[in-house]
Amino acid sequence: MRIDIRNFYFSYPGRKVLHDINLIIEDSEIVCVVGPNGSGKSTIVKCIESLLVPDSGQILLDGKESRNMKRIDMAKKIGYVPQSSNLTFSATVFDIVLMGRRPHASWQSSMIDIDIVIDILLLLELEDIALRQFNRLSGGQQQRVLIARAMAQHPELLLLDEPTSALDIAYQLDIMNIITNFVTKKNMSVVMVVHDLNLAARYADSIIMLKDGRIHARGKPEDVFTEANLSAVYDVEAVIGTQKEKVTIIPVARNKGKEKKYERERAPTF
Ligand code: ADP
Repeated sequence: MRIDIRNFYFSYPGRKVLHDINLIIEDSEIVCVVGPNGSGKSTIVKCIESLLVPDSGQILLDGKESRNMKRIDMAKKIGYVPQSSNLTFSATVFDIVLMGRRPHASWQSSMIDIDIVIDILLLLELEDIALRQFNRLSGGQQQRVLIARAMAQHPELLLLDEPTSALDIAYQLDIMNIITNFVTKKNMSVVMVVHDLNLAARYADSIIMLKDGRIHARGKPEDVFTEANLSAVYDVEAVIGTQKEKVTIIPVARNKGKEKKYERERAPTF
């Protein structure tokens, strides 16, 4: 799915958050959104999913304005994995993943839906916990189940808000490899909020780097993850290198001046 965001501004009540966002995300592209805490990463993803209404501007999904699309059509095309689950009711892992098929199914699930769910459960190694209650799982297990649910949807666009934050490094690699394979096989585009810059550098076709609700840099990982950008956006001194043909980022110190301020703010008052 091609996403075209034009002159986009968004505010929460009393707080302007996104300013003059203009960007195009191409079909079958993996885009990672990075930036400091509070820079607007989750907000931009929620805006693409049309969960939030902009002050002005447009988001076109394959040329159609998203705010004119019916919710059911959005659900067929977009899979969204939020930062944390607000599922409060009790349901098994199998049922949660089956919910991903709901936009495509009638009131009754078909054998095709069931087969898709089984395939995804096996792919994400969730078969052993398929009959366990979702709300009794660990944070990492829940995260993998929610990714499975979004993938079962067979979306054209997968929106992920920090999908690997609760996963150990082995599962991080698995999930990113599975997503990359899906993009290739199913022509899916992915927009993913990621804190781990090295993970973003390894898997993203393109990076969007936000600062204070504006796009500070956009492009290939090696063009965005520069010492200058990391200093300007994160206030850190970083060493940029290359490993296995991918850019690597090692933050080594806070920028001078910022470090002192940080220490002062955190200093005990007694
Ligand atoms: P990020 O994902 O980069 O950490 P967010 O998009 O969550 O940032 O938040 C951007 C800004 O919007 C922050 O200043 C945050 O405090 C504010 N914000 C987030 N959600 C809300 C909300 N529901 N109401 C008011 N302000 C919010």
